[in-house]
Amino acid sequence: MAVEIPFVPPLDDVHYGVAEQVSPLIRRIIANNPSKYSYRGTGTYVVGEAGGDLVVIDPGPNLDEHRDAIVAALGGQRVRAILVTHCHADHSPLAAWLRDETGAPTVAFGPHGAVDLDEDEESDVKVEESIDLAFAPDIFAVDGDVVAEIGGAPMRAVFTPGHTSNHMCFSFEAERALFTGDHVMGWSTTVVSPPDGDMRAYMDSLAKVGGRNDATLWPTHGNPVTDPQPFLQAYLAHRVEREQQVLARVRAGDTQIVEMVKVLYADVREELHKAAGRSVFSHLVKLVDDGQVHVVGDGPPTLKSAYAAS
Ligand SMILES: [Zn+2]
Repeated sequence: MAVEIPFVPPLDDVHYGVAEQVSPLIRRIIANNPSKYSYRGTGTYVVGEAGGDLVVIDPGPNLDEHRDAIVAALGGQRVRAILVTHCHADHSPLAAWLRDETGAPTVAFGPHGAVDLDEDEESDVKVEESIDLAFAPDIFAVDGDVVAEIGGAPMRAVFTPGHTSNHMCFSFEAERALFTGDHVMGWSTTVVSPPDGDMRAYMDSLAKVGGRNDATLWPTHGNPVTDPQPFLQAYLAHRVEREQQVLARVRAGDTQIVEMVKVLYADVREELHKAAGRSVFSHLVKLVDDGQVHVVGDGPPTLKSAYAAS
């Protein structure tokens, strides 16, 4: 029986450029950058009361209309911090502009880690999100740091590497809210693409969020998860199941990622198979590291390596 993830209902009726009140202290502005990775678009969160100090999370992509929408939402109120979950191009590019505009510091774990080498250069199909290499935070946060206070309630950094090596979630204790960036999404599983993406780190970070007691998860893409525990358990179980399926393909004699994808993603559109190959690759990297699989003829695991069971 395949694991079923209880995805939240689709985010319909999107009003781009409008700051929508989604909880007592949280507003969300959706940028008009829909895609197969960003779903309906990037959700930029503005946290705080009208008239009080604010925090902005993931200012988003470099789009004039999104920039204007942020200015309108801030309404001249003081911004205490600009929090960035990670450096994909749909999350961080407006951070530097917003710092200049408001004087508030940008806060993140750090700049993007290893540059993802694209071994599929012959392909013109984009298989993952593009990276904002220009971003570097003013403040480098570590796990547990209080990154801002809103109305006396702390916002804290929760380090969640995996989707990227610098991915950070942010908790807002006044509402038992966790802003999950791309670590946990409401509408889909997340891309984990080596070398910067790391499946072992990702699964550990899912378990870490599962060990918390948040009431609501606010992803950058899609609707909030309002019953986190069963969602997170299924989200992690799906990865464990996929790992077992990849291992079973290797044990059945498949040596190449493309062969494994054909079987494991038989019901998925072929245009998505390249991205699926990245996901299988991320599991193989972990399985090699675990000693359950090895690369035939040695060398580090790559997209084109031959794999065999150990
Ligand atoms: Zn991302």
